[in-house]
Amino acid sequence: MALTIRSAQDHRLDREAGAIVYPVISRRARGLSIGINLFPDKKTCSFDCPYCEVFPFTSDIQFSLPALERGLREFAAALNMDGSQGLRSDPVFSPSETSTNLNVKDLSFSGNGEPTLHPALRPALEMAGRLRNELYPQAKLVLITNGTGLLDPETANFLAAAARGVMEPFSGTGKELEIWLKVDAGTEAWYRNINRSAISFDSLCRAIEDFAGRAPFVIQTMVCKIGGQPAPQEEVQAWENLVRRLVELSSTVPPPRPGPQRLQLYGKARPAPEDPLAEPVNEAYLLERRASLIQKLAPYTIPVEVFV
Ligand code: SF4
Repeated sequence: MALTIRSAQDHRLDREAGAIVYPVISRRARGLSIGINLFPDKKTCSFDCPYCEVFPFTSDIQFSLPALERGLREFAAALNMDGSQGLRSDPVFSPSETSTNLNVKDLSFSGNGEPTLHPALRPALEMAGRLRNELYPQAKLVLITNGTGLLDPETANFLAAAARGVMEPFSGTGKELEIWLKVDAGTEAWYRNINRSAISFDSLCRAIEDFAGRAPFVIQTMVCKIGGQPAPQEEVQAWENLVRRLVELSSTVPPPRPGPQRLQLYGKARPAPEDPLAEPVNEAYLLERRASLIQKLAPYTIPVEVFV
C-alpha cells in the first residue's frame, strides 16, 4: 500500500477528496500527524473564519466508524511495512526529511469543520483512543475545536473526563485527550470579524471559563490581518485579559492544574478561499504579541509557542 504524506500546505487535497484519515507533516505537531476528518462530505462548521483554508467542495463519502478503523489500521500497516517504502513524500519534503518524521506525533481530529458538531464525536474519539493505544502508543490524541461542543453539558463533561484521563481509553500518562481550543478574540467586535459565528461571544467565553476550572487544554490563537487591519490595541488587551483570566481561574484548583497548559500563537500560512480578506502578519509582530502576553500573565507562566 502506498500513502502520500502531504505538507502542511496542501493536505486539503486529501481532505477535500473525501479522506477520513489523512497523513500530513504538521508544523504544530512538529512532525507526522494523522488527521481524522469527520466531514468528508462537506464543510460543516459553526464559525465562518475568513482565514479558513477549507475550500468549497462536496463528496458522497460519509464518515463511519468502520472507515475510521480501516484507515488507521491501513496506515499503521503501511508504516510497519518498511518505514519509508510504503510511503511517498510530498514533493516539498525531501525523502530524508520525511523519513526522519515517520514516528507518528499525533492523531488529530480536525478536517473540514468543527468536530464537536458531529453526532459520532464521542464514539469516534473512543475508537481513535483505543486504536492509538494499540497501534500508535507513542502518539498523542488531539481534538482541535472552536469550543462549540463546550456549550453542550454532556459533550463538555465527556471532553473534560477524556482530557483529565479519568476514563478509558484515555487513562494513563500521555494517553489523555489533548484539546486544542481556539480563542481568537477577546472582544465581541474582533470575534465578529475573525470568527463570524452566530454563537454568542459571551456564552462561548462563559463555557470556556467553566471548562478552564475542570480540564486541561491548549489555547490556539490565529493572529492575522482582516481587511488589511491587524487586531486593534483594545482587542489585543482584551484577549490578553481573557487568557489571564483562564489561567487565574485554573490556578486555584488543586493539581493536576486544569486550564491552559500552553498557548499557540499562529500566523496565516495557507491559502484560503476568501483571500486576500485575511492576510498574514510578519514574524516580528507575532513575537511582539508573545512578549506582551507573557508580561500580562506574570506572575503566572505558561509556554507560549509561535508558529509563523
Ligand atoms: S473554526 Fe476552523 S473549520 Fe471552522 S471556519 Fe474557522 S478555521 Fe474553518
